[in-house]
Amino acid sequence: MNPNNNNQQPTRPRSPKPQNGGNGNGRPQGNRGQNNNQRPQNKQGGQNGGKPQNQNTVLARTQTRRGEVFAAARRKSDTVNTMASQHIINVPVNKSLYNGYHGMQYTLNGNRKANRLPLADEPTLKVIPIGGLGEMGIGKNMMALEYGDDIIVIDMGLLFPGDGYPGINYIVPDITYLQERKHKIRGHVFTHAHLDHIGAFRHLVHKIPAPIYASHFTVGMLQKTMDEATSGYTPQYNTLNPDIHERVQLGEHFSIELVRVNHSIPDATAVVIRTPVGVLIDTGDWRFEEQPVDGKKFDLERLEQIAREEGILMLMNESTNCEFEGTHMHGEFDIAQSFDDIMKENQASRIIISTFSSQIHRIQMILEKAAANNRKVAFAGYSMIQNMEVALRSNSIKVPKDVIVRMDDIVKLPDHKVTIVCTGSQGELTAVLNRMATGAHKHIKVKSSDIIVFSSNPIPGNEVNVVHTVDGLMREGAEVLQNRTKHLHDCGPLHMSGHAYYDDHVKLISALKPKYYMPIHGEFHMLIHNARLAEQECQIPKDNIFVCDSGDVVELNSHSAMKTGRVPVGGVMYDNAGEEVSEVVLKDRLHIASEGMFIVVLTVSRKTGRLLTSPDIISRGFIYLRDSEELMNTIRAYLKQKVARSFGGRRVELDDIKRELKDDISHILYDQTRRTPIVIPVINEISGDGGQGGNNQAQRQKQRPAPQQPQSQPSQLPNQY
Ligand SMILES: [Zn+2]
Ligand SMILES: [Zn+2]
Repeated sequence: MNPNNNNQQPTRPRSPKPQNGGNGNGRPQGNRGQNNNQRPQNKQGGQNGGKPQNQNTVLARTQTRRGEVFAAARRKSDTVNTMASQHIINVPVNKSLYNGYHGMQYTLNGNRKANRLPLADEPTLKVIPIGGLGEMGIGKNMMALEYGDDIIVIDMGLLFPGDGYPGINYIVPDITYLQERKHKIRGHVFTHAHLDHIGAFRHLVHKIPAPIYASHFTVGMLQKTMDEATSGYTPQYNTLNPDIHERVQLGEHFSIELVRVNHSIPDATAVVIRTPVGVLIDTGDWRFEEQPVDGKKFDLERLEQIAREEGILMLMNESTNCEFEGTHMHGEFDIAQSFDDIMKENQASRIIISTFSSQIHRIQMILEKAAANNRKVAFAGYSMIQNMEVALRSNSIKVPKDVIVRMDDIVKLPDHKVTIVCTGSQGELTAVLNRMATGAHKHIKVKSSDIIVFSSNPIPGNEVNVVHTVDGLMREGAEVLQNRTKHLHDCGPLHMSGHAYYDDHVKLISALKPKYYMPIHGEFHMLIHNARLAEQECQIPKDNIFVCDSGDVVELNSHSAMKTGRVPVGGVMYDNAGEEVSEVVLKDRLHIASEGMFIVVLTVSRKTGRLLTSPDIISRGFIYLRDSEELMNTIRAYLKQKVARSFGGRRVELDDIKRELKDDISHILYDQTRRTPIVIPVINEISGDGGQGGNNQAQRQKQRPAPQQPQSQPSQLPNQY
């Protein structure tokens, strides 16, 4: 079978050295570069001397070359690595047309000289997106500005990675760069209270402590998120009032001012940063609104005034919806009118409205319309109730008298009095709306007379889940009204995005006339679109526009600006319990998810090396053992021979045996099934000779625990046999 092996003695005793290809930690090595051009079977034969096939009759009968097995394992490992690192941005410097170098392709290493600002002796301002730019989705927003000994940080958001990351709830920015310079940080500024801007706060703030600055409602939400923090750190909060243009000096070199914008959450602001080299603006998230619910309009006049009097050196502008043409054609009051119409036309029905829990102003509209239609309103969903508490405490919502009732009280009311505002508009499986559909909710089961309103659009990536929820609700006979199907019901708009469209961006950029422009808050394609918009519609020269990935450093002085390097960035993953999950664990999950796992437990006598019991075989997510009698017998036959030869009364290195077991079993399983499950051998050595192999139950009770593998051990898995 192995052409390079014919100079070896076929009966030569097996080398105790580990097999190549297995690195001993349960995972094939993903070193693509190293093995690409080698034929694994040659390597194996050359390095390892004798062929194990010759010793073990089961292995000898396999039809697959060992190199083929290693190649398959390596392919799987590469796939898993790729899947688990989608959130990692690891580009030296992007080569887009908007890289500040006329679109010339270059690398940091190859262009050291190019990456110097003219007048380099003058101190420079560094603009460093720690997260939020070019990510796998919208989120993880975090921006650092550094000048001399001062750093200020804007936002600390999280990112929801979606179904591709099993068991991962969200990802927060890697703040290594800031932790190493935490003594320089003079303040944390927040634009608004959406989770993609404040969601990482409770995980990060104690690691880089500094005073907090934000608007009233945002501070309330920041404080609320700290209820779940485990650090014990109490931040020092400072509320800034954007309406009186309050300014705060941070360190020697920065001063900040919040300017009101409109968005889909109360008290959203842009941040004006005055620095020794000029004025910068971070827009946060925004839209223009003719008639905001709270009457507080986007303070474009203030921004224009600053632009006129001081000039804007750099505008950092969000990119979420810049690919959508035109502008918003309706406002929140139009949506309120739709709610009113729906309540009037369905007087006998319960009205259940699902929306984002941070849409405080829309919730206020629902309360007003319910009051006008003689209905009561109950809130359902954890985040809904949490956010309402903050809104009430910070006076961000006006509540009509005697409208709100508790969930367990509203079920006692007749249907025509009932309005429920709940979470689940994104089809989240565990959110209220889904539980109402399945009957899992404590108080409400959806019925055929119910009217269910989705006052939201699916966030890209959630479409399938939303469809699933809608189907479940319709199966129960309920009427479901969605924004995109509103024509079927002849009702007005049910939702309005919180982000500006193309024409709005043109209006803002043209009004502020910044010298430099940086698209922020978006996936890479959005950033490019935003850049193109600024170049084509607002006459900002291409070389003054910086499309950056998180981690890029843009340096500015009073004369020029350019990309000059990168800092380490990345993500830290958290699960539903708010605990950190390491990348190794994620990779195991992905591997198990696609291939399953296969565990063999051997109990051998320390003294005689004999098997004391028949080997236990546990398979999870790989094959159903009951249907695979033949394969199991093959594995058992292999194990019996293996144990007889490996132990045989000698002192043996358990780790070596385990590695061989892992490689051999992987080989047999791949040979028989063409699959590469995670294989975990466990060897229990117990004292005593164990009699004639296999029925000493008393000694079995005294087994010492199996030696731990370095990763994700199964514990207490019941034997499937
Ligand atoms: Zn955002
Ligand atoms: Zn937002």
